Amino acid sequence: MYQTTYHRASSVAEAVNLLSEAADGKFVSGGQTLIPTMKQRLAAPSDLIDLRHIPELKGINVDGRDVRIGAGATHAEVAGHEGLAAICPAICHLAGHIGDPHVRHMGTIGGSIANNDPAADYPAAMLALNAMIHTSKRALSADEFFTGLFGTALEEDEIVTAVSFTAPDKAGYAKFPNPASRYALTGVFVAKRPEGVRVAVTGAGEDGVFRATGLEEALSNSFDPSALDGITLPAEGLMSDIHASAEYRANLIVVMAKRAVQAAMGG
Ligand SMILES: Cc1cc2nc3c(=O)[nH]c(=O)nc-3n(C[C@H](O)[C@H](O)[C@H](O)COP(=O)(O)OP(=O)(O)OC[C@H]3O[C@@H](n4cnc5c(N)ncnc54)[C@H](O)[C@@H]3O)c2cc1C
Repeated sequence: MYQTTYHRASSVAEAVNLLSEAADGKFVSGGQTLIPTMKQRLAAPSDLIDLRHIPELKGINVDGRDVRIGAGATHAEVAGHEGLAAICPAICHLAGHIGDPHVRHMGTIGGSIANNDPAADYPAAMLALNAMIHTSKRALSADEFFTGLFGTALEEDEIVTAVSFTAPDKAGYAKFPNPASRYALTGVFVAKRPEGVRVAVTGAGEDGVFRATGLEEALSNSFDPSALDGITLPAEGLMSDIHASAEYRANLIVVMAKRAVQAAMGG
């Protein structure tokens, strides 16, 4: 690793200020993406501004069906939150199947969505749940926040502080995990509300997470796995790599969507 200066911020304002003073600073939360990247010498920030000790970023609040998850909440905290499990078990299930126990106890929801890895789980949940992403500057809908492969609307000095959403009537998540990393080879999150169904896909799109509007339409007409029978998706715009071809992923999206609906229905 290159030499870097570590700073422990105790408030969001202090973290933003520390970044503005750094030559080429980076925020760090769980370090589960940034530290391996630095180890591989793909990133060499002059300063690391640690967000883990900022009280404003902590906590999970459930008020009726309204949920607010602090950006610093670890995957393990989300997975194990009883209030959240009572109204939206799908997001607890998702968090409980990220990586391994070490990753789940260090990695945070804020770090995951700020990084927007095309195979990460949380971006699909945020998009399907129509979540709001709160930052040190503003609040954005998930549709506005995710802008492409590893891309977000975040500015250099902008910190994700929390995410919020209203729990849908039903939700489910299914992923076909890479057997080594557990990242999604393809993952589908479905959320059903009276006004319709949202379906978001991770692990498959060349531009990162996206909404599958054809599947949304079919499931809004009938929220049942059989509503997707006979639907085939084009391979265009999907990733092809050593793990799976674009055609394979196109098929997996429909298979995972059916499993996600089944999970949402309690099966
Ligand atoms: C072995 C392994 C397996 C994994 N498997 C999975 C998996 O199955 N599914 C999955 O989704 N993920 C997986 N991950 C990634 C994991 O979920 C990380 O937690 C996540 O990618 C990043 O979160 P972090 O808190 O560690 O962020 P960091 O590594 O600390 O930061 C990542 C990036 O986000 C920025 N950042 C961090 N916090 C904030 C914030 N609050 N506001 C603005 N910018 C911020 C940093 O500057 C950096 O650019 C895996 C990681 C590893 C090492």
